[in-house]
Amino acid sequence: MIKIINLTKIFRTESVQTTALNEVSLEISQGEFVAIMGPSGCGKSTLLKIVTGVLSPTAGNIQIEGKVSALLELGAGFNEEYSGIENIYLNGRMMGYSRKEMDERLNGIVEFADIGDFINQPVKTYSSGMFARLAFAVAINVEPDILIVDEALSVGDIFFQNKCFKKFDELKRNGVTILFVSHDIGSVRQMCSRVLWLDHGTVRAFGEAAHICDMYMDEKR
Ligand code: ADP
Ligand code: MG
Repeated sequence: MIKIINLTKIFRTESVQTTALNEVSLEISQGEFVAIMGPSGCGKSTLLKIVTGVLSPTAGNIQIEGKVSALLELGAGFNEEYSGIENIYLNGRMMGYSRKEMDERLNGIVEFADIGDFINQPVKTYSSGMFARLAFAVAINVEPDILIVDEALSVGDIFFQNKCFKKFDELKRNGVTILFVSHDIGSVRQMCSRVLWLDHGTVRAFGEAAHICDMYMDEKR
């Protein structure tokens, strides 16, 4: 369960002030599959980072029940000098798993990532697609209650995307809550129960997936 009440995030630099989120309120139940849509800069990543705990809100309140696993913008939570394997352990530690617990999960993660011997090479030598494979493999193999996926999947190849969508189905059947950013209207229609449409940091609409996709496409025409 995710309950967000009047969430506001203001970024301040020396010269500019940006209101990335402005009094956003919504509630997502356990087991829902929600897509977040909206043009660049509307606040999608900021919202996901606050839900994940990477950023704290300027005002408002957020309540979360369950363990969150996240695949944010590329790079977050990884050390690029470390090998893929070392990064798997690093991520595990950050999520509160012991070395032994990660030993048990290692094979599953390596298999899902399927990047061959690159798994032993420093992450800085990876293509963005390889990196996405590794990061996604880690995020889904730590038994999250809530899985958060930013646009990361869009850098992957079509085969990996399909594999991820299959995995989403399995997670959904197991009652995992999924919150993901996508510009792929087709897969959003097919997979999601509800869509959150953000517009300049405010909730433009939050409702049944097909309905919100229609509204969104009509507006953009
Ligand atoms: P989206 O993911 O929907 O493209 P973001 O949540 O990344 O949008 O950004 C929302 C707004 O907040 C944008 O105007 C962006 O420039 C601004 N922003 C995001 N992160 C920062 C930051 N660290 N410092 C200053 N402004 C930021
Ligand atoms: Mg973003």
